[in-house]
Amino acid sequence: MNSESKRAAATDFVREIIAEDLRAGKNNGSVHTRFPPEPNGYLHIGHAKSICLNFGVAAEFNGLCNLRFDDTNPVKEESEYTASIKEDVRWLGYDWGDREYYASDYFELLYEYAVRLIKAGKAYVDDLNADEIRQYRGTLTEPGRESPYRNRTAEENLDLFERMRAGEFEDGSRVLRARIDMMSGNLNMRDPVMYRIIHEEHHRTGNKWCIYPMYDWAHGQSDSIEGITHSLCTLEFEDHRPLYNWFIEQLGIHQPRQIEFARLNLSYTVLSKRRLIQLVREGHVDGWDDPRMPTISGLRRRGYTPESIRDFCGRIGVAKSNSTVDIELLEHCLREDLNRCAPRVMAVLHPLRIVIENYPEGKVEELEAEINPEEPGAGSRKIPFSRELYIERDDFREESPKKFFRLAPGREVRLKHAYIIKCEHVVKDTETGEIVELLCTYDPGTKSGAPQANRKIKGTLHWVSVKHALNAEVRLYDRLFIKENPGDEKECPDMKSCLNPDSIEILRDCKVEPGLSNVRPGDFFQFLRIGYFCVDKDLPDEKLVFNRTVTLRDTWAKIEKKQKGR
Ligand code: ATP
Ligand code: MG
Repeated sequence: MNSESKRAAATDFVREIIAEDLRAGKNNGSVHTRFPPEPNGYLHIGHAKSICLNFGVAAEFNGLCNLRFDDTNPVKEESEYTASIKEDVRWLGYDWGDREYYASDYFELLYEYAVRLIKAGKAYVDDLNADEIRQYRGTLTEPGRESPYRNRTAEENLDLFERMRAGEFEDGSRVLRARIDMMSGNLNMRDPVMYRIIHEEHHRTGNKWCIYPMYDWAHGQSDSIEGITHSLCTLEFEDHRPLYNWFIEQLGIHQPRQIEFARLNLSYTVLSKRRLIQLVREGHVDGWDDPRMPTISGLRRRGYTPESIRDFCGRIGVAKSNSTVDIELLEHCLREDLNRCAPRVMAVLHPLRIVIENYPEGKVEELEAEINPEEPGAGSRKIPFSRELYIERDDFREESPKKFFRLAPGREVRLKHAYIIKCEHVVKDTETGEIVELLCTYDPGTKSGAPQANRKIKGTLHWVSVKHALNAEVRLYDRLFIKENPGDEKECPDMKSCLNPDSIEILRDCKVEPGLSNVRPGDFFQFLRIGYFCVDKDLPDEKLVFNRTVTLRDTWAKIEKKQKGR
């Protein structure tokens, strides 16, 4: 059993409730969930939590999970979003079979349901405008007032509702409301609006409708129509549950059981579609799939694997109270997965040329290098070694501090998979004083694998052969926000001022080993000693572009220890 399935078998309050329902023989022993996104933006890591929960629970209890688009608002929804949502759910590893549904498929049935409520005196057409409705609703401490239109006859309501549908009235001039209780302590029960008039084309139903159901009217009934047994949603819907139950009871239709869980909040991240849309529209990022975005498509482009995201969702679990998860945990899950499966390669981000003077000119040796020490079955690759090499500029210091175990004048270091070399001379630009190259010698007896190679040397550097290296652009991504809770109005009243000005650095003159000539978008690697990188999805002609997924430094273990010690 791998760690992921072990965790999946772990339980939580949602799974306990479902198991209990099964033991009690409810729903004829079946479990049916759904993931219900509104197609008004791209999915983010918070949605991944809901996806893993809904699809995960269904799989564990031999049930089914539907994908349902809650497309009740024609103004904000687009087909582009529907397509991206499907791609993201599939990429995360989940399959809804042929159960792809849309709330808009139920518009006719929802209309019939509304007519039923009108006939039963449980719904009425109200001529108050939006402002008046708000005023009449009262507050948490003040009871609401009944609308003067509340006591229209069923006949009059039916007539008006039909004419609303027929397009006789203007936007905002009338609504259909449930007739429940203006005195209720729960504001959601104070005659909530069920339908509003919007003369807008819908991405699926076109111009067929000019009245659209409110989310609160559509959601519960859609669950019921699909035979959902357990409707898992986030905590803010707890207060809506009595309303959903009321509708179902009035209609006498199948009742799903709603269970609320805490939404995911992540440090240094915003997870509300409103904020994410703002980031895109105002150009703070380069689109929804910018590698700095917490969207699934952004994480994918950054180099996150579906396994690491599922692992993360399993580890955070589901709870009943809101909290913020440390982003280090997400990065830790990613590093763990990449450490297991990323091929190792050598890349030099800030090249400094070295010449090995006692190595024959024109000679090339193909050296053997393991692909992944964590996975012996991954085998090995060949890397060319020659007289001129690039090393990292940072790996050389003319004046080296005490604990600097890299290259310095007169010092020796090991070149990974190759030889021990010594720096003999520093060549500088006579005008600028900048270091242009290093003249070195190598010790031929210390070839990797030879007995003498074990000579005690503190530093090991990565390198690439000048003649064989490929040019690459490397984009170093960092967190988008400098504040821990950028979504918090108090900490960040103005989102823009909380952006990290250094969230991207582009290096255009990097050198990578020649074996990378045939990479494909999405391929990922560990650049030895530097971090994990993936090939960007857009590969311009002849140019290699790598995105930094994450650095090697994992601080999660430390944080965890500190938390445990507390
Ligand atoms: P946002 O607040 O970002 O606009 P939303 O809740 O309006 O998100 P929906 O498309 O309605 O977005 O969400 C689809 C499903 O995903 C819902 O069941 C919702 O509860 C769940 N979901 C959304 N955000 C989170 C989150 N941060 N953590 C867990 N589940 C979430
Ligand atoms: Mg929503």
